[in-house]
Amino acid sequence: MKTSKVRFLLLRRCVQLLIIVCFVLGNCSIATFKNIQNKEEKLILGGDISSLMGDSSSVIAKQNSGFSFIAQGNLSYAEWFGGAIKLADPLSALQIFLAGGGLALDVWLGVMLVVVLYGVFLGRAFCSFVCPINLITDFASFLRTKLKLNNSPYKLTLPRSTRFVILSLTLVLSALFGVAAFELISPIAMFHRGIVFGMGFGVFAIMAVFLFDLFILKHGFCGHICPLGALYSLIGRFSLLRVSHKVAHCTKCMQCVRICPEPEVLKGIGKEDGAFKTMTCLRCGRCIEACDDNALTFSLINFTHKERK
Ligand code: SF4
Ligand code: SF4
Repeated sequence: MKTSKVRFLLLRRCVQLLIIVCFVLGNCSIATFKNIQNKEEKLILGGDISSLMGDSSSVIAKQNSGFSFIAQGNLSYAEWFGGAIKLADPLSALQIFLAGGGLALDVWLGVMLVVVLYGVFLGRAFCSFVCPINLITDFASFLRTKLKLNNSPYKLTLPRSTRFVILSLTLVLSALFGVAAFELISPIAMFHRGIVFGMGFGVFAIMAVFLFDLFILKHGFCGHICPLGALYSLIGRFSLLRVSHKVAHCTKCMQCVRICPEPEVLKGIGKEDGAFKTMTCLRCGRCIEACDDNALTFSLINFTHKERK
């Protein structure tokens, strides 16, 4: 297989894995055992101790490792490069706000930076380049195709707009019950924290997403259920990065539509030149890789040309 046919896949995997590695290293701690009768006791208790363990004669002092400069936190709120860049998940922040929780100024600034980044430039690229669940759902999609499960006569149908209903429900429930509703069950948070801090019962939520996508509904979780993907779709509705179409090159083979996880984005394929209106497009580049006729590219929207409807 030519590298050009998987160039965006490789780029996406590199970015996803790099982010995970940065979080794992950044959240590493150095644990030091000290004896409580030791004269160093006061120093330890006055230092950066986040856990006390062991019997009455010993403590564990936990300190950040040298890698903590790179990234600290998780996908809900993270400080990068010693706190120079702060990024916060807009859905987590919105739920906490509606639940009546106070948000620090740093969190609001982190939300604003994320909204500007994806809202102005990258659209819903969080889903294909950052979210760790994308690794699971892509694998389920790959297996589904290999096992020919897409041809099964038993199909669940669910409108793609369900995710926007779930997003609204998430916000309403957060406000009504005073808890960040989706955070309680979010497989994204469970998977990310599981990789970085150690996996617990979250593994069942991740398995559920995998099995749902594999056996029940094609692109089930990300394409129909996930409220975070829905929110990024709304945030990125007018973003500049688009998939653009050259109709003169198109042979209408529909390879791009078959591979696209959000095929309605490409519904105008073969009809008109220009950038697609791309609220739900993940900017994954799969359609561009699949096209053998050079009829699709990424482009920054050109406001002098009419946007496709
Ligand atoms: S739709 Fe949700 S789970 Fe899927 S990639 Fe996007 S944020 Fe992650
Ligand atoms: S249109 Fe292309 S870039 Fe957008 S989701 Fe579909 S395959 Fe990915």
